[in-house]
Amino acid sequence: MFIGHFAVGLGAKKAAPRIKLGTLFFAAQFLDLLWPLLILAGIEHVRINPHVIPFLRLELYDYPVSHSLLTSLLWSGLIGSAYYLLHKNRRHAVILGCVVLSHWLLDFISHVPDLPLAPGSSFYVGLGLWNSTVATIVIESLLFIAGFVLYLRSTTAKDKTGVIALWTLVIFLAVSYISNIIAPPPADAGPVGWLALSMWIFIPWGNWIDRHRASHE
Ligand SMILES: [Zn+2]
Repeated sequence: MFIGHFAVGLGAKKAAPRIKLGTLFFAAQFLDLLWPLLILAGIEHVRINPHVIPFLRLELYDYPVSHSLLTSLLWSGLIGSAYYLLHKNRRHAVILGCVVLSHWLLDFISHVPDLPLAPGSSFYVGLGLWNSTVATIVIESLLFIAGFVLYLRSTTAKDKTGVIALWTLVIFLAVSYISNIIAPPPADAGPVGWLALSMWIFIPWGNWIDRHRASHE
């Protein structure tokens, strides 16, 4: 999933108004933030598959450190614990850990069976929502709208920037989502890791939005 993960980050603001939006995006996207680093380090691997279904053009055949169930549980525990050590708020730490784990669950729904249960395991899972382009777009868009509405209800803009920063994010995500679907895949997997690194931009972007919006406790 892509915008579905942002839906969780936005929606979680309602449950944890004191966690910065950038931190929520970091948690919701953590597996995909780690993934390009591991691809570029040569630890995980991806290849291009000129498939008719746009969501299946990246063949994610080797990503056990970022995306196995076991490591996702570990990342979720680690990030939740780190948050607790820094902020001493158990409830928010648990919520943040759950946001990290939500990434794996949403990927489990959307991916074809390519998610290993643990590094070294040859048992792969995935419910394959991606097999239907239309169903993926509908479900992911509805999820995004739900998360966005929750975020809107949980915060109020303090100034114009609080409106502009949020709406440009929504437009940017929508354009990226559509272009990912309609643009032809890259000829080889070489640039994939570098392109995916751009996901890190959403952390400062989220914090920028947050600074200009007041959260309702
Ligand atoms: Zn992922």
